Amino acid sequence: MNPGTMTTEPLYREAPYEVTFEATVLAADDNGIVLDRSLFYPQGGGQPGDAGTLVTAGGTSLAIGDTRRDADGAVRHLPNDGVGLPTAGERVHGEINWSLRHIRMRVHTALHLLSVVIPAPVTGGSISDGQGRLDFDLPESTLGRDTVTDELRKLIAADYPVTTEWITEEELDARPELVKTMSVKPPRTGGPVRLVRIGDIDLQPCGGTHVASIAEIGDVRVRKIEKKSRHNRRVNIVLEG
Ligand SMILES: [Zn+2]
Repeated sequence: MNPGTMTTEPLYREAPYEVTFEATVLAADDNGIVLDRSLFYPQGGGQPGDAGTLVTAGGTSLAIGDTRRDADGAVRHLPNDGVGLPTAGERVHGEINWSLRHIRMRVHTALHLLSVVIPAPVTGGSISDGQGRLDFDLPESTLGRDTVTDELRKLIAADYPVTTEWITEEELDARPELVKTMSVKPPRTGGPVRLVRIGDIDLQPCGGTHVASIAEIGDVRVRKIEKKSRHNRRVNIVLEG
């Protein structure tokens, strides 16, 4: 198959709580294993790619250490070693590392809340296991660590639902206030843009995975606020348990 024509149905997008799936191999080589459909979230928007396992029909189990997405939409599952790769057309059973993914979903959703508590332009961000950070364009260092922690906890206690909706790129262009992240613009595909809504407090384009209601984030704390430059405040949060 022409590598330029491969796309993977992004099952993770509509089913963030599903853990196992069946798929067909489109290609498998040194660049990873491409499937026709996958629950593995590919690295993007500051969220790391999923880990997990793929088991072939013949019973070979492949440990997947990371997942990436090509510009054309092919999801590449990167095995820890290249031994026993499946061949195109083979069926595989996939299973994501759920405990890792769920922690990332909690941190990711908490970062949305952080952008509500601090209504300043976001210039960067990342998620690592059990913690995450956002960089804000804020000239004044008026942010208190305890105040931001309290505000986050208040929002989490209110337990808003997290839902998704879709708009056209034209509609998004007409509502530029929806885009909080200056550095990570939503990818333009010509197709609809996915918005993630948290109750009536937050609505922004995002392709990541989120918990279904924000109480599931659990307890969270601001670990530190760093001054990275005159205009850049880096706010680090950590899950408490
Ligand atoms: Zn998100």
